[in-house]
Amino acid sequence: MKAAVFQQGTKAPDPFVRVEEVPRPTLQPGYLLLRVVACGVCRTDLHIVEGDLPALRPRLIPGHQIVGEVVDGATTELPIGTRVGVSWMGGVDGSCWFCRHDMENLCDHPTFTGYTVDGGYAEYASVRADFAYPLPSGLDNEHVAPLLCAGIIGFRSLRVAAVQPGERVGLFGFGSSASLTIRILQSWKCEVYVVTRGEAHRKTAQSSGATWVGDESAKPPVALDRAITFAPSGKVVVSALASLRKGGIVAINAIHLDQMPAFDYDTLLWGERQIRSVANMTRQDARDFLQIAHDLNIRPKVTPFPLENANDALLAVKNETEDGSAVIIP
Ligand SMILES: [Zn+2]
Ligand SMILES: [Zn+2]
Repeated sequence: MKAAVFQQGTKAPDPFVRVEEVPRPTLQPGYLLLRVVACGVCRTDLHIVEGDLPALRPRLIPGHQIVGEVVDGATTELPIGTRVGVSWMGGVDGSCWFCRHDMENLCDHPTFTGYTVDGGYAEYASVRADFAYPLPSGLDNEHVAPLLCAGIIGFRSLRVAAVQPGERVGLFGFGSSASLTIRILQSWKCEVYVVTRGEAHRKTAQSSGATWVGDESAKPPVALDRAITFAPSGKVVVSALASLRKGGIVAINAIHLDQMPAFDYDTLLWGERQIRSVANMTRQDARDFLQIAHDLNIRPKVTPFPLENANDALLAVKNETEDGSAVIIP
């Protein structure tokens, strides 16, 4: 099969991945073989191919927003031909303290799709059957792909920030994840304040009906109940913290941050403000979000790229040149 392969140690100016012929994965018990029909590109993929996250394998097929059709390993719930989605959490051990306490997102021995195992920048992928979600009809392959990480983890961020209906919520950064999250916030009658660097992202936020939009130097005109940061920047976390009311929460939706700058405890954190990170997702988050996405008819903007142009898709995410989510179509 054709696949985009990342080699450990690859550095700029070499391309992130090379499209090659590789063996098709063989079916293992408990797994499904999928014919990949679309795979969303996430910022985490960029962190992997740029080395911000340590390489765990010499060769890796990235991609963890997989839309695929079951072609082998079918189960009663997922017969041949079923269209399923696969996300970043590709499996857990089911036995560690976290799994036994309803926190499988924090599992001690997790499988991460497109990081600890091969992912979906390929014509076929092997995935654990119990981590594949049947997808609602109504959304086509390329539009459902960005929901599978950006969407689910954006939704989890709202849970981590403990957003209540009607609250004032800040979104710091307005890429793929934030633009999906705003739809849920609107359905909860929240006021949404967007702070973001890119001009294109500010325009999208305006047209998505944000209450207020500003650039990275601007401060929302009201004290926020909750804030979610999407940019991989510690400075942005401090800006978000500076916009919170007492008792408010900042949820950091980023697997990697450049660094956290020093900040003043007395004015920024005291008053029971909280900073929380958002780590991975549970299968329940995925199921709940996919249901909400279906009910609200959430339809992300996407820019499709053929598998041969996987590097261009990664560059589009890096440079924030696309207004919609990049999706690879094998
Ligand atoms: Zn576990
Ligand atoms: Zn992701």
